[in-house]
Amino acid sequence: MTSRMYGRRARNVACVKALLAGIFLVVVVFTLPSPVSLIVSLIDLAFVPVFVLLARQSPRVAAYALVLETAAALTPRQFVQGYVNAVNWPIYILIPLIAVYMLRTPRAGLWSALITAAVALPVMTLAALTLPPGMRPADVFTAIVFVTGLMMGAAVVVSDMAVSPITPLDAPRPITLCILDGAMGTELARRGIDTGLPLWSANALLKAPDVVRQIHVDYIAAGARIITTDTFRTNVRTLRRAGLLDSKGTNREQGQRMHELVETAVALAHQAVTSSGVPGVRIAGSMAPVEDCYSPVLVPTDESVLYEEHVQLARELAMAGCDLLLIETMNTVREAAAAARAASETGLPVWVSLMLDAHQHLLSGESIADAVRAVLPYKPQALLVNCLPVAQVSDALIVLRQAVGARSDIAIGAYANAGHVEGAGWSMEHGVTPSEYAAAALRWQALGATIIGGCCGTTPEYISALLKEPKFSVSNASAPHNNKN
Ligand SMILES: [Zn+2]
Repeated sequence: MTSRMYGRRARNVACVKALLAGIFLVVVVFTLPSPVSLIVSLIDLAFVPVFVLLARQSPRVAAYALVLETAAALTPRQFVQGYVNAVNWPIYILIPLIAVYMLRTPRAGLWSALITAAVALPVMTLAALTLPPGMRPADVFTAIVFVTGLMMGAAVVVSDMAVSPITPLDAPRPITLCILDGAMGTELARRGIDTGLPLWSANALLKAPDVVRQIHVDYIAAGARIITTDTFRTNVRTLRRAGLLDSKGTNREQGQRMHELVETAVALAHQAVTSSGVPGVRIAGSMAPVEDCYSPVLVPTDESVLYEEHVQLARELAMAGCDLLLIETMNTVREAAAAARAASETGLPVWVSLMLDAHQHLLSGESIADAVRAVLPYKPQALLVNCLPVAQVSDALIVLRQAVGARSDIAIGAYANAGHVEGAGWSMEHGVTPSEYAAAALRWQALGATIIGGCCGTTPEYISALLKEPKFSVSNASAPHNNKN
């Protein structure tokens, strides 16, 4: 279902490309009937349906194939038309941006710029040396260097803009707040959906996908601009325990089952974004501890197993079209680091959120500072705390901020519980109300938090309460329920 999302983007690109190739063909036929240009234009047109079909199978392969093909088709035209044809240069710069648009990942632009450069530069260089059409080779080299630099620069800037909504903490601009959604698991239970272990919130992917989609829709309507996929419990270990994986099945078959569930979860989030029609909503792929978020002693001792299991989920989330990966409820330094490493390898922005005991340590007893040190090499975009009592968040943020130090490129944030764990269930007794939650969140913002949402027990009402809090400086001022009453 997610491939439909890419399918749509691929079709948009294909329409534009077919139109341009068609116009070019007409121009060639009437003005420059050179065999090279004719063949290139026909190949260019013929490739359009191929790459739409390819996009259904693998968006990534399709995007890079398109980049490669366009660069390869464009370059021979430079021979025919002259290398300094001003119309052609900007197209080289546009090519990486096409990949950014299609894949929405930071690395897509860079990879595409490299692919384009790898194709175009040797050919242009050869052309400059062998066919100087009234130009000095030095001029052509200058142009090549200029275009390459511009191309790389544009790719970096645009891909960064596409993925990074976070204002650095010490920026002169007013600090903007990024609103996350609230709980999924406890919200499913509140809506009468079975959230029995081991599958917990993932039960709903099988039995009540419409409710999952509706919860996403309701959070967006409440003002969330980042929604979190229902993938907290879609890892292989949980599926095996739930009897969803045949233990005799091959790794490949097991991976397929997980693939289906993750794809469903991410597709539901995409559908909610599309149907809500609210621009700028991003999808965070949830990655949880592979065993139990409340039991640090159960974290697998084999580092490579731990890492591989996170890699599996991170890859599925990235391929399904998440905008960022949210590693949440981490209770040990080891697992936080393993998950951050796995997530960072997808090229998506990585957020890491820690779960703390009453003494502001991870449940394992390790310090926040140690956890921050362990995940920093994987360049997290944000560090957060989650699934802790509201009353504890301010102190946790102070410790977290100290641990992050003067690094202004890392945002901090929090999403807390509105109630508390009681036995195997959840209780809202002595819990905070939405307005109390919003008042607390205002203090978190004052302490430097720029990402705020809700964890267990929170509902869309809690998220809309944040936006009703007039003292918040919220980046998404166009939120539908903002400051209405
Ligand atoms: Zn929680």
